[in-house]
Amino acid sequence: MKLVGFSCVFSAVMLAAMGFFLVKGNSIVLGSPRHAGVFNVGQDGYSEAASLMNREFDRQGYVTIPLPENVGESDITIQNNPYDKTVWISINNVSEDYYHKNLFSGDLDNIESIRYGYEDGLVRIVLSAADIFEPVKEFEDHRLYLKLVAPHDIYEHVVVIDPGHGGENQGSAVYGIKENDIVDGVTERLKNIEMPSGIGIYYTRAAGEGAENEDRLHIAETVSADLLVSIHTNADSMSRTTTGCGAATLSADSAIGDLFGRSVSEATGLEYAGVQDGSNMTILKDANMPSVLVELGYITNKKEAVKMATEEFQSSAADAIAKSITEYFENEQTN
Ligand SMILES: [Zn+2]
Repeated sequence: MKLVGFSCVFSAVMLAAMGFFLVKGNSIVLGSPRHAGVFNVGQDGYSEAASLMNREFDRQGYVTIPLPENVGESDITIQNNPYDKTVWISINNVSEDYYHKNLFSGDLDNIESIRYGYEDGLVRIVLSAADIFEPVKEFEDHRLYLKLVAPHDIYEHVVVIDPGHGGENQGSAVYGIKENDIVDGVTERLKNIEMPSGIGIYYTRAAGEGAENEDRLHIAETVSADLLVSIHTNADSMSRTTTGCGAATLSADSAIGDLFGRSVSEATGLEYAGVQDGSNMTILKDANMPSVLVELGYITNKKEAVKMATEEFQSSAADAIAKSITEYFENEQTN
């Protein structure tokens, strides 16, 4: 995650030293009787924004973000990043100094810091949360109300999708095609697929970024995932002719592997290679929830590598993974 590059040219208003800080239990309330705020510009160009407590508009359990009259709900994008416990709120059509005069307020129990940056009419507010939460928003009367809740508070089923590799670790690379690019391509398409409302999805890393296995597992454990789906391509060091998509699971979970492997095979047209034993695979052997590692196809097989690099393959594979997740929980309910 790169926050560098967001230019912040506004001046710092320093009221911190003037003693407007109240610390009450877990919650930190920053404010003054007048509308004024604290912006300390950080090295990454973002500001630490302390907020004004304006109880008149406050709503229990919510952070309140005021919005200019011209800003509608469609101008607001909220991105939840479980890997660094941040929630990004991007808002279009806001003037650079708007949040100097109209400050965030509310209940900050779950929030460790609020930072704020600006570029080309886009404000980005970054909430650093105390844990992995799901942001629940309400938009009313030119205000955005945001509440952070535990994933299982609003989702019946919680799934963690783990895009393999990332960062320095690009996975296998043959014929000029990198495993990591295929995995990221499928993952970005998955993010655009609307899931049934009872299923919440969390990702273990951002596109292009790396992550340690223990951090990936930590996310799955923290959100109490009901299912962990790791996405990779297969490779065969002995032969360039091995083919097929499949899955790896711990033996007890081979039915999950079969569900995902067959589904990806049917959707993409790659032959079905069956379920492998994943008892030596890091993410699987240490996962304490049902888990499956989807092997999209063999990157060591030129035909499959070329196919996996196409948008068409990546869309079909993403659809198949999403469908398998839904089916997994449907099957669970009928059994
Ligand atoms: Zn891999």
